Amino acid sequence: MVEPVLKHRWPKSYKEAVRLQERLRSRLILGDRTGDVRIVAGADVSYDKGSDYYHAAVVVLKFPEMETIEETHASGKAPFPYIPGLLAFREGPIVIKALKKLKSRPDILMIDGHGIAHPRGFGIASHLGVLTGIPSIGCAKSVLVGEFREPGARRGAKSPLVYKGEEVGRALRTKEKVKPVFVSAGHMVSLDTACEIVIKCCTKYRLPEPTRRAHILVNEVRRGTLTTGISTSRIALTSCPSPGGRGVKEACHSERSEESALLNIYNSLLAHYGPQHWWPGETPFEVMVGAILTQNTNWGNVEKAISNLKRSDSLSPEAINAMPETTLAELIKPSGYFNIKAKRLKSFIRYFVENYNGKTEEMRKRSSAQIRRELLSVSGIGPETADSILLYSLEMPVFVVDAYTKRIFSRHGFFPPDSDYHDVQRFFMDSLPEDVKLYNEYHALIVRLAKDRCVKKSGQCELCILAGCTNEAQ
Ligand code: SF4
Repeated sequence: MVEPVLKHRWPKSYKEAVRLQERLRSRLILGDRTGDVRIVAGADVSYDKGSDYYHAAVVVLKFPEMETIEETHASGKAPFPYIPGLLAFREGPIVIKALKKLKSRPDILMIDGHGIAHPRGFGIASHLGVLTGIPSIGCAKSVLVGEFREPGARRGAKSPLVYKGEEVGRALRTKEKVKPVFVSAGHMVSLDTACEIVIKCCTKYRLPEPTRRAHILVNEVRRGTLTTGISTSRIALTSCPSPGGRGVKEACHSERSEESALLNIYNSLLAHYGPQHWWPGETPFEVMVGAILTQNTNWGNVEKAISNLKRSDSLSPEAINAMPETTLAELIKPSGYFNIKAKRLKSFIRYFVENYNGKTEEMRKRSSAQIRRELLSVSGIGPETADSILLYSLEMPVFVVDAYTKRIFSRHGFFPPDSDYHDVQRFFMDSLPEDVKLYNEYHALIVRLAKDRCVKKSGQCELCILAGCTNEAQ
């Protein structure tokens, strides 16, 4: 949705870049052409350490509510060296690349940089404003040119930033007793309006939410930790689905946006509940045992059974293999169905010891498809248990599906409630990036949500974090 209205070749030399800045400056509009401001986008850039490889993130928020609507990011190699005053030539191309991925068109573009508070009156915020045709604001953490007096201590206090006798921006106190930010008009926004928008975008932090969130996102992208917040284009959730999911599918997602919709739900859950630290278990072997014992019971009961095994020094493949089935049944009694589970556990341990010497590292040398086939051939191990072992014990990228997954996502219209295990699994694995950490945390969050709000009888939608699943971009 954000296609540049003006395109130019990105210069390679200092002289060329300065000439282009001077030429483009004549296109600047410094009065208000903002219209009704409903959405604001913030952009930020981050570099890989000691490298020219860099990343840009754009976060789009509702104004003035500051709810995230959409996020995009892009990565690449910086085409221009760092030269103060020519930042647009280094960072502009990557920000434009991220902007092009947006599905919405922001009313305001806020850049962590300067607009006209610049040696040639044409900083990166002005440059991107002119290229995109979107009214733009520079909101920088430090001064590039000009002088200012410290504004008053109260939030909202401001003082002029003066360069060559002209007010080119303002030092704006966005948080009491915290250093000011430096606001300048970029393009099609007056300085008064720019300051007003920036202060409305500041919640409890010094930096306005659009650039603050873009900063967080771009660092996640750089660190490769986006599994706790992954997307190339995340789309916001808004109105609540009916618990029965009627009519939700059309509103909630389309094939095109399945990844976005799933990642958006994931991000919402993670932000709300935090990491779940699954699977509880001190060793991969303990996780395997837990995966079998947790069938048809709650985790509290499994913990008691595992404690019994630990207390009797029996939580090892060798000990369980050597133990009579009746003794094992007695020890795991708290997990329920203990005779059946003792038989299942013995079958599994036999397979594990005979084929892999009781060593998970030996198992990890095989493909997940092979291990899965083998596990499913062990008596009493079904797809969910096999996949739990693959994901949580062997750390292989296999999405675990359970009744909770089907309940929540069928209520949101992603698939019918009676969908087959493997169809649901394929849906998730085809839609999401292959990522062990993501699959791990996502499943744990699904379980948390199902127990907290999306209970069997009917979901407590009005209290639920997923009370809203309309893809606004559709
Ligand atoms: S309780 Fe939450 S997850 Fe369940 S249907 Fe309602 S909004 Fe969706």
